[in-house]
Amino acid sequence: MNHANQNHGTGTDPAAMRVAYFSMEFGVDPRLPIYAGGLGVLAGDTLRAFADLKMRVVAVTLLYRKGYFEQVLDDEGNQIEREVSWNPGGILRSLAPTASVSIAGREVVVRASRYDVTGPSGHVVPLILLDTDVPENDSEARFLTGSLYGGDDRYRLSQEIVLGIGGVRMLKALGYTGLEHFHMNEGHASLIALELLREEPQPPDGGDEENQSEAAALWRQDIEDVRQKCVFTTHTPVPAGHDQFSYDLVAEVLTEAFPHAELRRLGGDERLNMTSLALNLSHFINGVAKRHREVSQEMFPGFAIDAITNGVHSVTWTSPGFCALYDRLIPGWRADSFSLRYAINLPRPEVWDAHLIAKRVLLDEVRKRSGADLPLETFTLGFARRAASYKRADLIFQDLDTLAAVARVAGPVQLILAGKAHPKDILGKELIRRVFAAAKALKGRVEVVYLANYDMRLAGLLTAGVDVWLNTPLPPQEASGTSGMKAAHNGVPSLSVLDGWWIEGHVEGVTGWSIGATSPQPDARLTTREEIDRRDAGELYEKLGRVILPLFYQDRPAWCDVMRRTIAFNASFFNAHRMVQQYAASAYV
Ligand SMILES: *Cc1c(COP(=O)(O)O)cnc(C)c1O
Repeated sequence: MNHANQNHGTGTDPAAMRVAYFSMEFGVDPRLPIYAGGLGVLAGDTLRAFADLKMRVVAVTLLYRKGYFEQVLDDEGNQIEREVSWNPGGILRSLAPTASVSIAGREVVVRASRYDVTGPSGHVVPLILLDTDVPENDSEARFLTGSLYGGDDRYRLSQEIVLGIGGVRMLKALGYTGLEHFHMNEGHASLIALELLREEPQPPDGGDEENQSEAAALWRQDIEDVRQKCVFTTHTPVPAGHDQFSYDLVAEVLTEAFPHAELRRLGGDERLNMTSLALNLSHFINGVAKRHREVSQEMFPGFAIDAITNGVHSVTWTSPGFCALYDRLIPGWRADSFSLRYAINLPRPEVWDAHLIAKRVLLDEVRKRSGADLPLETFTLGFARRAASYKRADLIFQDLDTLAAVARVAGPVQLILAGKAHPKDILGKELIRRVFAAAKALKGRVEVVYLANYDMRLAGLLTAGVDVWLNTPLPPQEASGTSGMKAAHNGVPSLSVLDGWWIEGHVEGVTGWSIGATSPQPDARLTTREEIDRRDAGELYEKLGRVILPLFYQDRPAWCDVMRRTIAFNASFFNAHRMVQQYAASAYV
């Protein structure tokens, strides 16, 4: 009895938690629409790995009452955004304690709900979801936790105050008193460092009444202590992607008693840059792939940047067919993702059968959603991710006649795509329309299906069910990319531009194939985007027609070798178990 009780309680004692992991979004449960893309799904996978490895972590985010939008596409590929309605009550448990933050001069009350991520041993990693939609608040404040990545700068800064400052206060109210590390997953959560500066050590009596210069003096003393607690993971290789707020806005909205001169010193002279704030106040800073570390190091000279390459949660992203195969032939793989290395010896026919199970499930779903009847035997390429312009979903449609000729000569090809554009991303929306136009023009030559409303569930079906996973970002903008790692867990090799994780995961012809510059140096002769696109598309057609399609259609055993090596080399490494163990060894120390 005693023993059972102990097991049940593991991870649930707030005072025993050592790490607080903050993220603006979490793909933690397909029923919770509180993620927009890769950043959130990675955060969800991270929590699942923490739970598997019984790490004492609590996570914090916002409870978006309206979630991230639901995507509807018309016949031309115009994106229509629908509000999702969901009922947190059925999934989350509300908690009694409250916290409050000052936003634009008024007190905003914050409540919390809890979602438990439970590992196979029963170990729990609680996710605390902060909510301002409570009767004590006025209507503007109640909407602050309404939508993810919605609204203007003022809305975003207000949300970040709730997340960072409200989050630290809520953890304290909930009894998380032993936290040693605060991990900011991207700069959205940087304000936690300010709150830690404010409260550590406890101000003497009457500390709140201190004037600014005394507060600044107090801060300077404590900066090193706070730095030792903070960990910052950056995910954005382009400066424009970092949250920045004008100091006018900051003065208006951030009405907590902070010394604003100090804020400028830590957050930037011109604007409050949340990335600068996190860089200045963290002792461990990392990019999410080796190449991304280099790019970040160039962007932020003067800070020591480490690399911890992303990984996905193996059990979450392995299809039922492969789960059954691994359960039979690689016992222990669920507890230890490294054992996927033994996939190198899986019998080829069983690998192929497991793949066909996943492919059938996907093609059935495609039929159900779009009416398109795609044959099981046809080579199927998959491409799904946020419809952001740098991801270049339309690269393969650069030259439709060449693509059609490749399919005519080397063997039939079909394509399944998916992805939402951010509501304000005009270029992203245009990208979807271009793919729709290409699909029409290719009708009868190469079948192309674009599925609406890409989410975790669809990501699972797509990454497992296609024959090759296509990835064509414009380097160096893909910090890591994780969907190709999901594919690798299902023996699906990647055909990808050498950027992000693929620089590490790619062995030509062994784990998949590359597109574009094969050296890390960009080709200096190519200057315009058009030239780069044309060169990359040319290599894509070449590789499909000369290497990939002949192998797929003419040498199935050799194809199955690629599948086995994809699992053995890449799933065994690009998984969340390895990733969180690296965080534990180098960041949470
Ligand atoms: C994995 C995942 C992503 C991230 O894919 P990238 O290859 O990193 O762009 C985005 N959205 C969903 C729903 C996912 O499951």
